Amino acid sequence: MGKKEKCVICNEIVGFRFKAMDEWKIDGTLCGKCYSKKVDEHYPGEHVRVNKHLD
Ligand SMILES: [Zn+2]
Repeated sequence: MGKKEKCVICNEIVGFRFKAMDEWKIDGTLCGKCYSKKVDEHYPGEHVRVNKHLD
């Protein structure tokens, strides 16, 4: 298995990796929770929520 990656925002070990969009200016891997949060910040009202159950 590959090495464990950490979320660049919350520093948690990421199980299922999410990649940040280029326009977010984030380099690295996000966990589902932070990804969802970022989507909320950057695309208010017009996004499809992922991992809603993690809220
Ligand atoms: Zn995170």
